[in-house]
Amino acid sequence: MKRFLTIIISTAAVLAFAAACWFNSQTTVVAQDEYTMHYSAYLCSNCGFGNKKDNCCKCGRWCGSTKIPARLCNDCGFGNRKDYCVKCGKWCGSTKIPAVLCNDCGFGNRKDNCCKCGKWAP
Ligand SMILES: [Zn+2]
Ligand SMILES: [Zn+2]
Ligand SMILES: [Zn+2]
Repeated sequence: MKRFLTIIISTAAVLAFAAACWFNSQTTVVAQDEYTMHYSAYLCSNCGFGNKKDNCCKCGRWCGSTKIPARLCNDCGFGNRKDYCVKCGKWCGSTKIPAVLCNDCGFGNRKDNCCKCGKWAP
């Protein structure tokens, strides 16, 4: 009888462990979905030509060594909207140059805002 109980308990433990793993994997997926609410912002080959790619896509100032990646919210980057230049609105095509923010425009949690509409895009 004691042996039988041990088997029951260990089976229950294994089941509980499996359930916990399954639950963990489920919540991780949901958390990831909620987390990726932003898209990377890009410049077209014209707006990012030469050293223009080092200029802040918001204020146009030269970023220097502090280049903060600019982002788009889930609205502004929805579907193929993320393939359009954040500066002139032209389609980037195959030449997508990452848009950057200067020290000022990307300061603190400002870097988490959409560079187009300003909405928070975590
Ligand atoms: Zn700036
Ligand atoms: Zn452009
Ligand atoms: Zn936006």
